[in-house]
Amino acid sequence: MSENPTAPAFVLGRRSKQRLADCHRDMSAVVERAIRITCVDFAVLETLRTEKKQRRMLREGKSKTQNSRHLGKVPKNTPELGEIAHAVDLVAWVDGKPNWEWEHYFIIANAMKQAAEELGIGIKWSGCWDYLIVYGSAEQANDAYISREKAEGEKPKDNGLHFRTKEPNLTGWAITIKLKIDTQNFTLRGRGRKLPRCLATLGSNPLPGFSSLLYRAQKSPAA
Ligand SMILES: [Zn+2]
Repeated sequence: MSENPTAPAFVLGRRSKQRLADCHRDMSAVVERAIRITCVDFAVLETLRTEKKQRRMLREGKSKTQNSRHLGKVPKNTPELGEIAHAVDLVAWVDGKPNWEWEHYFIIANAMKQAAEELGIGIKWSGCWDYLIVYGSAEQANDAYISREKAEGEKPKDNGLHFRTKEPNLTGWAITIKLKIDTQNFTLRGRGRKLPRCLATLGSNPLPGFSSLLYRAQKSPAA
């Protein structure tokens, strides 16, 4: 069945499956496909997170956001699913134990990328804090992220575990903004990659940020 005949056929363990049940079905579908095509085994470390745990992680500096996609949220387009996570953390499983070497996370992220593209589902990865579809491979995505952060004087985050689907409350905004910019003949390369990151900070009222984003785009049209 696998497109890659050399890939070992891994399967998700019982606990991984249980955790996936608390996650948006788009994301679980991508993970279930990825485990069949990955060359590095992985386990689902976390999906749904309680608010109590999120507060503790914030205190300990392990999370930087009040609005983690691991917190339960009702998806707008499928409210019948109830409060579910929109993010998943995958840990590489090598020689029977967790492994934190980056080389494995590139392979897992490439399997997630392929799975997401096959299923037509947009996913972001913490190795680039962006949609994987924009890049040729996970390595390229990570290189682009590191260069971007350095250019802005920021220290890149060292995290290759985390994947998430589109923001549950912002569906449609990314498309709207891209179209607006496109009609004004601005190149989407590079600029398009920044959009999701801007959107993530805007919450449920994206209009002020939206305006300033367009303003900045107008001030500096791409060559
Ligand atoms: Zn995560």
